[in-house]
Amino acid sequence: MTTFYIMTLFPEMVEQGLKTSIIGRAVEKEILRIEAVNIRDYTTNKHGKVDDYPYGGGAGMVMQAQPIYDAYQAIVDRIGRRPRTIYLTPKGQTFHQGMAKEFALDEELVFLCGHYEGVDERVLEEIVTDYVSIGDYVLTGGELAAMVMVDAISRMVPGTLSNQESGETETFHNYLLEYPQYSRPEIWRDKKVPEVLLSGHHKNIEAWRLEQSIALTKKNRPDLYERYVEQEGVQHGRKQKADTGSR
Ligand code: SAM
Repeated sequence: MTTFYIMTLFPEMVEQGLKTSIIGRAVEKEILRIEAVNIRDYTTNKHGKVDDYPYGGGAGMVMQAQPIYDAYQAIVDRIGRRPRTIYLTPKGQTFHQGMAKEFALDEELVFLCGHYEGVDERVLEEIVTDYVSIGDYVLTGGELAAMVMVDAISRMVPGTLSNQESGETETFHNYLLEYPQYSRPEIWRDKKVPEVLLSGHHKNIEAWRLEQSIALTKKNRPDLYERYVEQEGVQHGRKQKADTGSR
């Protein structure tokens, strides 16, 4: 079972957001466990305060180190070790599918959601193993970013998807975007499903899908397409080497 601990000031937000559909079903099946940890529960401030003004001045408030560290330490005490701990921040490395696959190998992951102007640097230095951004824009808090990551990582945990295949053939696999999908009816508003998909000829269908994937990637994501071509070149080179080696 994979457990996600989400440290946040707004636990209800992540609890609500992650209890439906595929992720909710995986939680029910005990493939995943999602625990929202309310940072405010750990503050030693008698008014329940968790933030203060930034030293040196400037706009906004900064989340203080003490409640975050104590919330983290309570998790460590419970599981008996220091788990991989991700701070969601626009200053981090941009999240991608390869990272989702890699994070899915961990049994426990902690996510720290910042709010306001951010978090006291000293507690980040103490607990964070990975700084991750979900894209080049600034959100009001880390909760949506944590939910994005938990969703993408969960899909890579065996058993979450009912058909494990679909995780293997979709967008970003092999640096390609997925081909277009169609379902019933065969004709909708005079638009017909491509003939090849009705042919039952699996080799032709596969070839058509690959062709579509390549064309779409080239058009929408030339950066990914370049990596695809590179990878194909490497594989082609390896094959040629193996062929000549075997002669
Ligand atoms: N002052 C910070 C800066 O300029 O880097 C931004 C703080 S932002 C308003 C508040 C919190 O939202 C951050 O601490 C972080 O946890 C989260 N956040 C904002 N944008 C994000 C992004 N693109 N990816 C992940 N987390 C993000």
